[in-house]
Amino acid sequence: MERLAVYPGSFDPITNGHLDIIKRGLRFFDKLIILVAYNPNKSGLFSVEERMELIRQVVGDDARIRVDSFSGLLVNYVRDNGAAVILRGLRALSDFEYEFQMALINRRLNRDIETVFLMTGYKWFYTSSNLIKEAAGHGGSVRGLVPEIVLQRLQEKYADSFKKG
Ligand code: ADP
Repeated sequence: MERLAVYPGSFDPITNGHLDIIKRGLRFFDKLIILVAYNPNKSGLFSVEERMELIRQVVGDDARIRVDSFSGLLVNYVRDNGAAVILRGLRALSDFEYEFQMALINRRLNRDIETVFLMTGYKWFYTSSNLIKEAAGHGGSVRGLVPEIVLQRLQEKYADSFKKG
């Protein structure tokens, strides 16, 4: 049987930390759906379409990966797409409490679905989309923490916002 997992997140934008989880996840799942989970009332730096496009460019042509977006109840998406596993990454202790709560509520909502965690690679311990945006927004270099294409897009985004004042 094919082992399929859903890796949900904001991915605003995708970082090398996310990529590490994706690559390692593919060692024990046959297929991964990278799911841009969004709240329609909250806008990110990148639109949902831009985030999906960046993910596609970064993961390249890989038949094991599908990129999708969703804004409802995650366990329903997972069930409806024939998966039984939610893949998540853990960085610092601060991730733990939130992830623990999410895993418990999701299990309560659907007992057939398990959340599986991978510890971050030590290089990506402090890499979060929010910190990346914060640093890049103030002109700091985030080279090495995000793929090259993301670096370019971040620079373009912030150049636009500086122009707009
Ligand atoms: P969220 O909005 O839920 O935090 P993110 O896009 O930030 O979504 O992250 C999606 C998932 O990837 C989460 O499980 C998060 O912990 C994990 N993740 C993000 N950055 C890293 C990283 N540097 N190393 C390992 N896991 C990470």
